[in-house]
Amino acid sequence: MDELEGVLKGQKIAYFSMEVGLTSEIPTYAGGLGTLAGDAIRSSADLKLPLVAVTLISKRNYFKQQLDQNGKQSEQPREWNPEKYMTLLPNEVYVRIEGRSVKVKAWLYKYQSITGGVVPVLFLDTDFDGNTPEDREITFYLYGGNEKYRLKQEAILGFGGVRMLDALGFRVRKYHMNEGHSSLLAVELLRKNGMDAERVRELCVFTTHTPVEAGHDKFNYDLVTEVLETVDLSTLKQFGGTERLNMTLLALNLSNYVNGVAKRHQEISSKMFAGYEIHAVTNGVHSFTWTGDKYRKLYDKYLPGWAIEPELLAKVDTIPDEEIWQAHVEQKQILIDYANQAANATLCSDVFTLGFARRATEYKRPTLLFSNLDRLRTINEKGKFQVIFAGKAHPRDEGGKRLIEQIFSYGRQLKGDVEIVYLEDYSMDIAAKMVSGVDVWLNTPLRPMEASGTSGMKAAHNGVINFSVLDGWWIEGWIENLTGWAIGPHSTQSLDDENTSLKEAEDLYNKLEYVITPMFYDRHDEWIKMMKNSIGKIAYYFNSHRMMRRYVIDAYL
Ligand SMILES: *Cc1c(COP(=O)(O)O)cnc(C)c1O
Repeated sequence: MDELEGVLKGQKIAYFSMEVGLTSEIPTYAGGLGTLAGDAIRSSADLKLPLVAVTLISKRNYFKQQLDQNGKQSEQPREWNPEKYMTLLPNEVYVRIEGRSVKVKAWLYKYQSITGGVVPVLFLDTDFDGNTPEDREITFYLYGGNEKYRLKQEAILGFGGVRMLDALGFRVRKYHMNEGHSSLLAVELLRKNGMDAERVRELCVFTTHTPVEAGHDKFNYDLVTEVLETVDLSTLKQFGGTERLNMTLLALNLSNYVNGVAKRHQEISSKMFAGYEIHAVTNGVHSFTWTGDKYRKLYDKYLPGWAIEPELLAKVDTIPDEEIWQAHVEQKQILIDYANQAANATLCSDVFTLGFARRATEYKRPTLLFSNLDRLRTINEKGKFQVIFAGKAHPRDEGGKRLIEQIFSYGRQLKGDVEIVYLEDYSMDIAAKMVSGVDVWLNTPLRPMEASGTSGMKAAHNGVINFSVLDGWWIEGWIENLTGWAIGPHSTQSLDDENTSLKEAEDLYNKLEYVITPMFYDRHDEWIKMMKNSIGKIAYYFNSHRMMRRYVIDAYL
């Protein structure tokens, strides 16, 4: 087949992910999991790794976010046309769902690197004549619908994905499950390999992303029997749990290599799943994608080759301070201009600027900053600051939606003192603007909920300094007063203290007032030193080139 020419050669790593973030125009991602998958694909192409990615087309998603003047979110459908970006392949495979044979086809997107590497990405789709209207919708909504809808999606991804790779003629040496959504692929492999679990384990790699028990997908066996094709229930129970089908357990039991996405997350996962050997491959981000234009030019001038070998960023000290600062000033102006126009705001580029952008959901605690408004006013009188927020709440996450409204309300209360701006419709494009244009990147998750987090790594690529609770990747990247600042107790200190969030807020205020804003305004040389450390001691390591090389050596070979 012409479309596949050149990409079928050799044996592949098949990378399965429910969501993939390639560009803002292809809205098949909801958050960090998808942007991570996108970064894995981008780095694999740069490094010419033999990878093929499999995901769902999510044709009617992910929604466009609108916020009214009170911060009330409404969701507008975002139809997009896959034909603009990819080619529909003629091959058809079938997955039995509720007794019906559902036709599955794949859209091919070829991610091309300037190095010449190519990663094919297959977007599975069921929206075809011959399928019932209900079945045509299975690949419409990312994380949409109820449990049954989700199970159907996971069947298309797991069963359909393996079948599609076979139908297209891919030869696969490893199947990498990026989170448990795709673990039905291991059941398909059992079937293909005469129920030889040992053989299937040799073929499978599993990356877990969920540090809390409740976050793992589980399905009742009644539902499983109703929806899935005739799989032997006793086999499913043997590998996926006796009570309910636990997708994480299924993947754990059928993979020889399992990892968490940061060292702390590995420790937590090892406790949660005692008896399993769980490794750590700390996440990274695609350096070129997340570095702003001004910094790209600067790195090209002083550290040529940095985008393909981000380790070179360790030599950031060869760049003169003034040029680091100038690139930052320009990136900041781009963001401020955008925000002032998009949100009708009056942000000022001379003012110290904090940024906070991620999915709006409770564990991320975007409102911790507002624990004490009087304190914020006092801090602002000594060292003026402003804050830019962005993030969507999942349509059914009422708590997340309320958080956005609260931020708007705090913004009104602080009006005339601290300017608070919330940018609508968070996307990869807005993320790129924000992580390159603020002075400090704020992160206040409830521990241990942030398995890794990646936006702070993006910020570091732009000399933006991290100010974060010690959770996820930051435990590894943090050196106090050198690479950034911690908020709250050390990660080894107990978590069940109910005053923890009070202490965290107190620590946040103290550092903002006595350490961070004074350094920003009065000790410029020290500030630039920390910006450089962010680049030379964080970005040089927390990138997806290092991450993919680790997967190759530790998991794929
Ligand atoms: C990087 C990114 C994320 C992940 O950010 P976290 O801080 O790790 O939650 C989510 N959404 C978008 C659009 C991103 O670019």
